[in-house]
Amino acid sequence: MKKTIALISHDNLKSRMVLWATHYKEILAQFNLVGTGTTGKRIEDEVGLTVSKFKSGPLGGDQQIGAGIAEGKIHAVIFFWDPMSPHPHDVDVKALLRIAVVYNIPMACNEETANLVLKGLPRL
Ligand code: PGA
Repeated sequence: MKKTIALISHDNLKSRMVLWATHYKEILAQFNLVGTGTTGKRIEDEVGLTVSKFKSGPLGGDQQIGAGIAEGKIHAVIFFWDPMSPHPHDVDVKALLRIAVVYNIPMACNEETANLVLKGLPRL
């Protein structure tokens, strides 16, 4: 069964994630991809990968990804997290971090860690 990776990026880092996903397109194509609404749409439109989109992060998308982790449907999270800007859904982000730890899944919160996680994830 293909593993599922969740992609999330805060606004200031969305272009960075598009570049990152373009670089790793061939590897990412071997996984099921899900993402928060705006991030997922940009990856689909600008990288050409298929992404199942949840709601936008501030409207509950991060919580939906947390629910997917709890249900065993999401196996890793790549989150380009902007530590320099305030976000209305900060508590949702904290909850997502917590649930990823509870279920012991890999969760990358910056690009260098994302590189390592992607290379280390089993494709099947
Ligand atoms: P977005 O959500 O991809 O819909 O912008 C990301 C976030 O801010 O959590």
